[in-house]
Order: sequence, then C-alpha cells, then structure tokens
Amino acid sequence: MMRRACVIGWPVSHSRSPLIHTYWLRSLGIEGEYVRQPVEPGAAGRFLAELRERGFVGCNVTIPHKEAAFAALDDVTPIGRALAGVNTVWLEGSRLIGTSTDGEGFLANLDERTPGWSAAPGPAVVLGAGGAAKAIVWSLRERGFAPIAVVNRSLSRAEDLAKQFGPFIRADRWERLPELLRNAALLVNATSLGMAGQPPLSVPIEALPAHALVTDIVYTPLSTDLLRAARSRGLVTVDGLGMLMHQAVPGFERWFGRRPTVTDELRALLVADIEAR
Ligand code: NAP
Repeated sequence: MMRRACVIGWPVSHSRSPLIHTYWLRSLGIEGEYVRQPVEPGAAGRFLAELRERGFVGCNVTIPHKEAAFAALDDVTPIGRALAGVNTVWLEGSRLIGTSTDGEGFLANLDERTPGWSAAPGPAVVLGAGGAAKAIVWSLRERGFAPIAVVNRSLSRAEDLAKQFGPFIRADRWERLPELLRNAALLVNATSLGMAGQPPLSVPIEALPAHALVTDIVYTPLSTDLLRAARSRGLVTVDGLGMLMHQAVPGFERWFGRRPTVTDELRALLVADIEAR
C-alpha cells in the first residue's frame, strides 16, 4: 500500500516540507506521497487521533500545533518532552509517537558545512528563547558547549529556559552582547529578526573573536544581514537552509523506511523556491 505523510499547520500553504519530501520520494524511487494538510487551530488533537483512518503513517507539525500535538501523543522522545512541543509524529502500531527534530537538524547542518566545528566546544551565544532556540540550546549542551548565554527580548523567557536546562545556561540581556561575544566560539541567531518582513537584527559583530563561527537559522533571505556582516569580517558562517533540510531526515526515515540524503540538488530546488516567492 502506498505510504502517505503530511504537514499540518494553519496556514500551511507556505510550508516547503512537501518540496523536500517529494524530492526524496522521487529520487529514492519510493511510491509514496507527502501533502499539505490545513488544520484549524484547536483541531490538531482530533486530526492526530484520526491520522491512521485518514490514511497517513505520520506527519510534520508546524505553527500553531506543536504544543497541541505534544499533548495528543502516546509517547514522546526526551527532546520532545523537554521542549513540550513536537514537529514530527509517526505511528507505532496504533500508538502516536513524536519528537522535535530541530536540534538534530541544526547540528547536522553545522557538521556538514563546517566539519570539526564542535571538536573543542567553547562559550556560545544564542539569540532567542523560542521553540527553535530551546532545541538549539539543548543540542549545544549535548555537544559540550558551555557556558551558553541565551539573549532574548523577553528576559523572563530566557530565564525559564536557563532554569530548565541547567547551570551552564545563562539568561542575558541584549545590552551585554559586546561583552558576551568577546570570547564566544559560536553565535546563533534563533530569533525571527532579519527574516523578510520582520524587523532587522542588529548585533555588535566586531566584538567576536576571529575564530568564531556564526550561524543564522533564518533562511529567507538566505544571506541575512548577520551572515553578511560576519563574512565581511572574515568569519566562518553557515546559513539556515541546511537546518531545514536536515530536520526533515528523521521523519522521512520513520515514514518511508529509507534514510534520505541532503544533496546540492535539493538545496538548489529550495533556493529557487525561495527566490521565486
Ligand atoms: P518563536 O517560538 O515564535 O520565537 C521567536 C523568537 O524571536 C523569540 O525569541 C522572540 O523573542 C524573538 N523575536 C521575535 N520578534 C522579535 C522582535 N521584534 N524583537 C526581538 N526579538 C524578537 O519562533 P521559533 O519557532 O523559535 O522560530 C524562530 C525563527 O527561526 C523563525 O524565523 C523560524 O522561521 C526560524 N526557524 C528556522 C528553522 C530552520 O530549519 N532553519 C527551524 C525552526 C525555526 P520574545 O521571546 O521576546 O518574543
């Protein structure tokens, strides 16, 4: 029987997940389907309870359903539990299982683009304290980065994250960035600032040491102001498109039984799609 998966969200028309999964289905010669499924706010629990009856083996979950999906699961991975939100759901028998793959995608992107980047982990600065920032802080902690400064507009949100994730995670204010960046090995933008249609992101990039790695998880535009400023200083940078591709790998493998590869061809397809919108 043909396996089918979907992405649920509201709205969901902007999602690039169908492009990614359909590319992999075709290139691996798998007879399957991946579709967008608009699900209204408040209706995710019911949709997931009927997932199997609707003919799906699993789904991705995007805004605003990540927390509701978490609540609807029979079991969840440790990272999904820590984030209290999931982006990937699959069926094991009749049980619904879920996880968040953002952290895995974040690490895999840096591993691919800058091999050895976490061999000697040092202090990191993460801008943002939302869902993506949380997944990234969790992943950096796993790789041994310490201390990790979480700098966010709403300090209380960063403080909650620090309290939950332990002693090497510290909440900090934007005003302290020049000082925090001075000995940072890594700077991550995990806010939506700098994204097309959002306010710009302003960071005192000159404070970073010459060996620092700078990455932005915003990928529209692909080359953000932050990345351009870092490059003009000669720093190594990694854009956020790889995270988008890599975070999709575990879901595809669960649903369709083969581990797909992130290729230059897929990246080119996504770049063309970004430029066309
Ligand atoms: P979220 O939970 O809504 O968090 C948004 C973050 O941005 C918060 O830290 C928020 O600060 C901050 N922010 C928003 N507007 C701001 C403003 N005007 N001034 C200062 N800070 C502001 O969103 P998310 O899911 O974490 O996603 C964050 C970004 O990452 C989005 O642009 C998303 O598209 C991108 N993303 C990319 C990937 C990828 O694969 N590359 C994966 C996931 C997410 P407050 O807490 O103060 O509101």
